[in-house]
Amino acid sequence: MSIETTPGGSGAALPKAPYELAQRRPEHGAGTTLEIAGRRIGGGAFATIAGPCTVETEDQTLSTARIMRDVGVQFFRGGAYKPRSSPYSFQGLGQEGLDILRRAKDETGLPIVTELTDVRDVEAVAEVADVIQVGARNMQNYPLLIEIGRSGVATLIKRGLAASLDELLMAAEYVLAQGNPNVVLCERGIRTFETSTRFTLDIAAVPVLKERTHLPVVVDPSHAAGRRDLVLPLSMAAAAAGADGIIVETHPDPANAVCDGPQQLHASGFGAYLRQVEAAAALAGNVPAPVSVPA
Ligand code: PEP
Ligand code: MN
Repeated sequence: MSIETTPGGSGAALPKAPYELAQRRPEHGAGTTLEIAGRRIGGGAFATIAGPCTVETEDQTLSTARIMRDVGVQFFRGGAYKPRSSPYSFQGLGQEGLDILRRAKDETGLPIVTELTDVRDVEAVAEVADVIQVGARNMQNYPLLIEIGRSGVATLIKRGLAASLDELLMAAEYVLAQGNPNVVLCERGIRTFETSTRFTLDIAAVPVLKERTHLPVVVDPSHAAGRRDLVLPLSMAAAAAGADGIIVETHPDPANAVCDGPQQLHASGFGAYLRQVEAAAALAGNVPAPVSVPA
């Protein structure tokens, strides 16, 4: 990343570094702290984003959101538009799901993280989302990244199933280059030959990304593991490795979840899980920040 950005001897501008806005510089110190809807993430502030894989019903969503508020998570997640591998799988409730997320936000005060899969839905999703999620399958959907950049809404970009860390950073750069500074990166497991887990969680991605960028880095242990019993150890490993947060799936009744049931944590046990993850985060010097109320 040493390419000059100043004009060259001929007067012609040399190429810019491929992710010069995302790139870490000495003045970034412990990293950038983003403040999104009164919640802080990065630069020492550890944030937990939790909720179901998908919005199924109002009751399932609101009951989960109430538990998440009570145990102190910072953001509530839930998909209304789902990027499913099979076209015959449940695709999400769409606008009805967004309406349910709005009710969850109004009742609990939790900011919403929800996925955008299609540029045509950007306005509808931006109405409700405090953070627009870009799924792994869309990490290199450049028109989508540009629209999110233009929307000005914060975004969480997941690493593609077979994307390098530099490719993830260049995806972030598409959003930053539109003047939108609120970008969170997410390691969620990559494709390898190993079939024991759904994906292979690349823990090294955390320190490597933090070396290359000032942006917050979170880990999704749920989609990496594919198995509930691995979610706690992977979360603790991520937190201890210096992740700025986690994004994790939880459901009141995982056995009957519409999607990703085997990996969703029981919502009733989420508080005990979270305390262990936060203890691991403290080992790396990261602690949850209090909610900041505007003066
Ligand atoms: C999700 O978070 O619900 C999801 C679909 O994740 P990913 O894009 O990482 O597969
Ligand atoms: Mn899921």
